Amino acid sequence: PEAITIQELANRMSERAVDVIRMLMKQGAMHKITDVIDADTAQLIAEELGHSVKRVAASDVEEGLFDQVDDSTDTETRSPVVTVMGHVDHGKTSLLDALRHANVVSGEAGGITQHIGAYQVLSPESGKKITFIDTPGHAAFTAMRARGAKVTDIVVLVVAADDGVMPQTVEAINHAKAAGVPIIVAINKIDKPDAKPERVRTELLQHEVQVESFGGEVVDVEVSAKNKTNLDKLLEMIALQAEILDLKTNSERPAEGTVIEAKLDRGRGPVATVLVQRGTLRVGDIIVAGAEMGRVRALISDQGDTVQEAGPSVPVEVLGFNGPPEAGDRLAVVENEARARQITSYRAHQKRENAAASISGMRGSLEQMMS
Ligand code: GDP
Ligand code: MG
Repeated sequence: PEAITIQELANRMSERAVDVIRMLMKQGAMHKITDVIDADTAQLIAEELGHSVKRVAASDVEEGLFDQVDDSTDTETRSPVVTVMGHVDHGKTSLLDALRHANVVSGEAGGITQHIGAYQVLSPESGKKITFIDTPGHAAFTAMRARGAKVTDIVVLVVAADDGVMPQTVEAINHAKAAGVPIIVAINKIDKPDAKPERVRTELLQHEVQVESFGGEVVDVEVSAKNKTNLDKLLEMIALQAEILDLKTNSERPAEGTVIEAKLDRGRGPVATVLVQRGTLRVGDIIVAGAEMGRVRALISDQGDTVQEAGPSVPVEVLGFNGPPEAGDRLAVVENEARARQITSYRAHQKRENAAASISGMRGSLEQMMS
């Protein structure tokens, strides 16, 4: 249910909070300035104080921002976006590092590659690009999904051959299944003398992940991140899976994307790593993400190069936000600053209200516990 704090209501009417509290008192309710009242009560109070009330629905403000439903213009093939998941210490970071240095897209291997939270590599045989989200772990995946963002096309499930299926392996399987994302299994640490890849396959079967050699459809590749064994094969399997998924997009429209990570950089101000998903993001574009807005001042590629634009499935660092957005926030390009301000001020307001409502909810349950 919609709700507002008394302070916020007073602010928005440019009235004093005490007058709002007095008005509520007349109706027989005692309130503090930090209390949350429901939208109907707020409307009543506002009207009694002589204000005209226009309740704004999210659908009005957000109208047309993401037309995900209309994908009829998505006719261009795009690169797959891959997230690496698995149990702690099974080699996610090692694998991501090995892949990054194995086939960096612009061939600048050995150079100082800046970490921007995501990167692209080439699959050597097909020459196709693959985008890796470089924030391993379930937290990132879960945060994105919680915000309704779908960034991952394929999950690479890393299972250490000497350790087998562990609790976070099972969690990752469940995440991937819930999101409807296909899994490719990377059986890692195959170099170890006590590696038992066959045992991994058997254990996976118990969690309804049936690899090809067991008559299923899930591809598995035995790799060693340490010795860089079979990395090309893994990339090729990802490229193949992407072909099956037939991923389409449209680069000729205003950009849409998702914030992978964001921070406040001392020298550069708010910096967000964004995965562009549709359209093309350009320097000068006016952008919104969550409750933040800005104008793209600079775009920096995963190679650390300044670029003028970034198309679908391309990760890029975005400079020019007024404040850092949150991981999982959807990014959109809008027509002008007025529109951007309307959207972000509405969202900032929603955010404050939700926070206030959850605090008052907490207080309510605390009081119940005490009584
Ligand atoms: P994460 O927690 O899943 O990110 O795992 P890490 O990448 O941090 O790896 C955990 C440990 O396993 C580190 O000590 C790595 O050096 C080691 N490791 C990762 N991959 C391999 C591999 O292919 N072979 C061997 N022998 N060790 C590996
Ligand atoms: Mg790690």
